[in-house]
Amino acid sequence: MKTYDYIIVGGGLFGGTFAYLAQQKGKKCLVVEKRNTLGGNIYCQNIEGINVHKYGAHIFHTNNKTVWEFVNSLVEFNRFTNSPIANYKGEIYNMPFNMNTFNKMWGVSRPEEAKKIIDSQRSQISNVPQNLEEQAISLVGTDLYQKLIKGYTEKQWGRDCRELPPFIIKRIPVRFTYDNNYFNDPYQGIPVGGYNELINVLFEGCDIMLNTDYNKEKERFNQMGNKVLYTGTLDSFYDYKYGKLEYRSLRFESEVLDLENYQGVAVVNYTDRETPYTRVIEHKHFEFGTQKKTVITKEYPASWREGDEPYYPVNDDTNQDLYGRYKELAENEDKIIFGGRLAEYKYYDMDKVIASAFNLVHQEFN
Ligand SMILES: Cc1cc2nc3c(=O)[nH]c(=O)nc-3n(C[C@H](O)[C@H](O)[C@H](O)COP(=O)(O)OP(=O)(O)OC[C@H]3O[C@@H](n4cnc5c(N)ncnc54)[C@H](O)[C@@H]3O)c2cc1C
Repeated sequence: MKTYDYIIVGGGLFGGTFAYLAQQKGKKCLVVEKRNTLGGNIYCQNIEGINVHKYGAHIFHTNNKTVWEFVNSLVEFNRFTNSPIANYKGEIYNMPFNMNTFNKMWGVSRPEEAKKIIDSQRSQISNVPQNLEEQAISLVGTDLYQKLIKGYTEKQWGRDCRELPPFIIKRIPVRFTYDNNYFNDPYQGIPVGGYNELINVLFEGCDIMLNTDYNKEKERFNQMGNKVLYTGTLDSFYDYKYGKLEYRSLRFESEVLDLENYQGVAVVNYTDRETPYTRVIEHKHFEFGTQKKTVITKEYPASWREGDEPYYPVNDDTNQDLYGRYKELAENEDKIIFGGRLAEYKYYDMDKVIASAFNLVHQEFN
């Protein structure tokens, strides 16, 4: 009863990129998605005419020209430039750390003056950093650490910076120019009309089954296709036989406000420890919206339990070892291919996910 060339498990960006390119090779695809929407984590919900990034703010940025040309061949992108700000107890600072930040913090106007202050504060740490606090101070000094790093990081990890290992922060980008563009990549933007436009094009022509968990009916689906591309979590594929991989999660609280413009920018980081959320997203600014109302989302870091959204993998040694054991099993499957952020237990930006799907297409069809 094989009717499909590929059963694609997961309607996210990895599955979508593969589906689009496989169909161009004449392959027939069935997409099985356990949520009631396609798009995975880039899905947007339209509220008051505003595309609300339901699973966290997503900004497309890349230095990969092939990926950029690919997505632009499917939908038009606007020129959104991510220039978030930090709010520390009501004081506003530009991000990433640059001359605008230093001018606000110390009143300096020239790079040399800022460098001098940072260097003198950095020199307070003369030993090899023993924890995240010492590491951060050794990189950017005490003022930037105290106001813009400490509280935010402690909220993210649910622990004091002195109890966190130094390697979590390897480098902190510091710019000695007046440049608030968060990303260094040459290409950046948001699809005009939101990410669902991109998703619709990627999956066009596929048969789709929503609200369907592949893992509950594996055998049935395996019989329906020559091959299966699985983009869900690897431990759940193997019914957690070696144990569960850990994640960090997020909780989002969205509200519609009867205001045209709440914070004047898409992303505000709250860097003090007391404010319980880490960021507030005002979605309309991603698309320069002019609607009468606005939608904001407060983002709270959360520990993860089974059933919660697995947002960020915890790639420590214990979890990596466990993942390695599942990966060994996966490598011995001949009919099932694995890909995407969940199956690879890896944080992947969107452009990297697309590039990885390109590689898979290359392997499958060349
Ligand atoms: C909070 C947050 C913010 C981010 N912001 C950015 C950003 O600004 N820029 C950027 O480039 N990247 C960003 N990313 C990364 C981006 O979300 C990923 O690159 C992308 O979504 C990965 O696509 P995917 O298809 O691998 O996974 P997903 O989008 O997770 O898709 C996997 C799909 O598989 C489905 N699925 C899982 N198991 C099963 C099953 N058993 N049966 C059926 N269906 C199943 C899931 O429901 C899901 O829809 C962010 C990620 C997070 C968590």
